[in-house]
Amino acid sequence: MNFIETRGNDTKNLQEVSFSQAILNPSASFGGLYVPKELPQLGLEFVKAHLNSSYKELAFALLKKFEIDIDDGEIHKALDLYDNFDNPKDPCPVVKVKEDLFVQEQYHGPTRAFKDMALQPFGSLLSSLAKKNNEHYLILAATSGDTGPAALNTFKNKEGIQVACMYPSGGTSDVQRLQMVCEDGANLKVIGINGNFDDAQAALKNLLASSTFKNELHKHNIKLSAANSVNFGRIIFQIIYHIHSYIELVKQNEISLGDAIYLIVPSGNFGNALGGYYAMKMGIPIEKILIASNENNILTQWINDGVYDIRGKELILTKSPAMDILKSSNIERVLFDLFGAERTKELMENLHEKQYFTLSTCEKEQIQAIFSAIYSDDAYGSSKIKEFLDEGYLMDPHTATCLKAYENLKEKPLKTVMYSTAEWTKFSPTVLNALNETNISYADKEALETIAQKNNAKIPESVQALFSANVIHDTIIDKEDIEKEIINFIQ
Ligand SMILES: *Cc1c(COP(=O)(O)O)cnc(C)c1O
Repeated sequence: MNFIETRGNDTKNLQEVSFSQAILNPSASFGGLYVPKELPQLGLEFVKAHLNSSYKELAFALLKKFEIDIDDGEIHKALDLYDNFDNPKDPCPVVKVKEDLFVQEQYHGPTRAFKDMALQPFGSLLSSLAKKNNEHYLILAATSGDTGPAALNTFKNKEGIQVACMYPSGGTSDVQRLQMVCEDGANLKVIGINGNFDDAQAALKNLLASSTFKNELHKHNIKLSAANSVNFGRIIFQIIYHIHSYIELVKQNEISLGDAIYLIVPSGNFGNALGGYYAMKMGIPIEKILIASNENNILTQWINDGVYDIRGKELILTKSPAMDILKSSNIERVLFDLFGAERTKELMENLHEKQYFTLSTCEKEQIQAIFSAIYSDDAYGSSKIKEFLDEGYLMDPHTATCLKAYENLKEKPLKTVMYSTAEWTKFSPTVLNALNETNISYADKEALETIAQKNNAKIPESVQALFSANVIHDTIIDKEDIEKEIINFIQ
């Protein structure tokens, strides 16, 4: 299947590209994104055929439906990375927490957050393509904590790929920082920046605009690619687990084949939610996708009012930092799917030029037929973490945002799957404060051990090992010095 562009074609780019072209070079005409030309229809037949499949078999079948131009051997190699998850047969188990509420735990991979679900296999595919084409790619990442560790882990020692990852020094949790600075691989560069996440992102933007930097890349025959969720190579792996949710509820005798369910997605850049949208469009019986946000409630406003408005808005730093976002890239793919390229281009240009866009009433109603949205604050999340642990279920602050949607947005008494995007071990100081109803700045190690001891919870080996691991990357610099540092690295 071929891929087309959300803002139409500028006649310089190809009209249509293959899957591998779309993932190697993810920037489309007019600043748009690549999307599949049409979505394969799965329907209930596909679900029925895969009731007894392993996760990898399901994933393979879905990728084949998209007719991607990747050899079967390479697809299998990529999917075999799910063998490194806690339970290779079921990398993202669906567990029951209430009569009608289920949690899909998406954090059982190497970096204990849901980014692994897509980045693990994606890293393998990208590197195999680079090798096959005899090309060399540089991936630049500015991270507030979860994408960085997952990208470094998947690309370490992969041929044809180098990764330079910038994080705000002091702006991540200890676990997140250690996952980055202790990751060993000659093709990895991790740079702490004196500043906050905005500074790290600004540094990345400056770098991409610098002609000196571009010349250096050109001289060394290095191309740039992207590993964030603008890359469809990540999105394709994010459709699978929504289908898995549905299959699991059928298998657990919670629903009959054909019954509709709700999904609740804690959202930031909307990659996770987009995967659910595509699953719905491909015929999986999903009643609605409920979008949970934190106090950065831009998605709530977009869905409820049809207005995407970032005028005068400042990013609020919350206890669910992976959802702290103002510009959510993947809503563009929903706009394209519903309203077409011309309208999408117009709306995205409005957003760029005037910092907002407004949907018509009819457009808003189309969005609301698929999504409902709500947000909550840190105090609400803390109270839910405590309430659920009292009933025996430990969750992280991102997962806790889903409960606001569960309590308020369901219009029908249908079974519901909410997504747990990070393990509690990644945000243990926040969790401990929630449990103790305090606001103390704990070190991660102390918080981890206290929670584990009191609640008989397990700290995974990979997290435990971080506290005695060697720090490989000790560079912490001012943003003015980043370009020089990265040029040295790529030579
Ligand atoms: C990235 C992330 C999210 C947001 O996912 P999107 O696909 O960007 O909407 C939520 N929770 C955690 C823990 C994450 O790492």
